[in-house]
Amino acid sequence: MQNTAYYPTLEIHMNKVQDNIKNVHALCSDNGVKITGVVKGCNALQEVAEVFEKNNYHSIGSSRISQLKKMKDRGLKSEMMLVRIPMLSELEEVIQYADISLNSDRGTLIALNDLAKQHGKVHKVVLMTDLGDLREGVWDKDEFIDLALFVEEQLEGLRLYGIGTNLGCYGSIRPTEVNMTQLAELAERVELRIGRVLDIVSGGATTSVPVLVDGKMPKKVNHLRVGEGILLARDLTTPDFCYLEYMHNDTFVLTAQIIEIQTKPSHPVGELYIDAFGNRPTYVDVGMRKRALLGVGRQDFGHHDSLKPIDERVSVVGSSSDHLIVDITDVDENYQVGDTLSFTLFYQGMLFLSLCEDVQKIIVK
Ligand SMILES: *Cc1c(COP(=O)(O)O)cnc(C)c1O
Repeated sequence: MQNTAYYPTLEIHMNKVQDNIKNVHALCSDNGVKITGVVKGCNALQEVAEVFEKNNYHSIGSSRISQLKKMKDRGLKSEMMLVRIPMLSELEEVIQYADISLNSDRGTLIALNDLAKQHGKVHKVVLMTDLGDLREGVWDKDEFIDLALFVEEQLEGLRLYGIGTNLGCYGSIRPTEVNMTQLAELAERVELRIGRVLDIVSGGATTSVPVLVDGKMPKKVNHLRVGEGILLARDLTTPDFCYLEYMHNDTFVLTAQIIEIQTKPSHPVGELYIDAFGNRPTYVDVGMRKRALLGVGRQDFGHHDSLKPIDERVSVVGSSSDHLIVDITDVDENYQVGDTLSFTLFYQGMLFLSLCEDVQKIIVK
């Protein structure tokens, strides 16, 4: 590991990221499924995007056009997929920097078509249908099929590249054989109407991978958009469950420096009011405890629930914008101010830390 005098740091262990990228690619191609490697969770880190490209992923995806632009500008050749429905205000950039985008709005598609034609391009679109998670996607299935036919027949600046759905994000709906079969059947209805086979039928994100692992994915679903499940080998719905035992969870590691060690009561003393974020938390009194205060906070990592101490005897107590409090009572080592503690991450931690300018990124080869 690189020695550094600057904290906090976010180490990205590239050998493990690479293993994960290779393993998921092998798993999916064995099952006839192509993957878009989604890099929004790590701020489209160039080193990570390059590994997706080297391993022949179908494409690289982000919700942010700025990240797609950054990757194109840095010379990546992969097709870029915008995985958030585009804003009307960013359609110029969508045509310029995204090869494929997810869409659900007729007006946006018409505007996108006009721009694509102006630029002499054919832009690929994946129409999104909502199967119950209630974030993006056309709800009414007849309306959806009409929209697909409209793109196919009327918008020559666009290619109806496929259809897709997203689950597990807002409505916390689990992808299953049932909703994946609904998607497959909808794809068949669209194909019947347009008279050709769709290039991709996109069955979702990380949360859809277990359906594939269990051998329950319908053949028709031939594409997934996966970020978290590769970068962290975790699945939000079951945060501690590494769905394939050969995958690495310790790819992104936060290290922060101890700025104070004190033995203090575990219950605050005085009249309970509100915390730094206006919440009224509850506290459990477990007596006097030895605590370390670290120079990192919610501004860097989001919520402290997204941190997992590598030393299992350490537990996270709480945090505010610039501080993290951990309990080190059960640790035998005599920690001192200036020592560091390290954490593996859940999605929010990776996302925030990757974006935070005060956090030094260290690529570990
Ligand atoms: C973020 C996102 C993904 C990737 O999600 P992961 O949980 O990181 O796999 C896929 N599709 C859409 C529409 C997204 O917004």
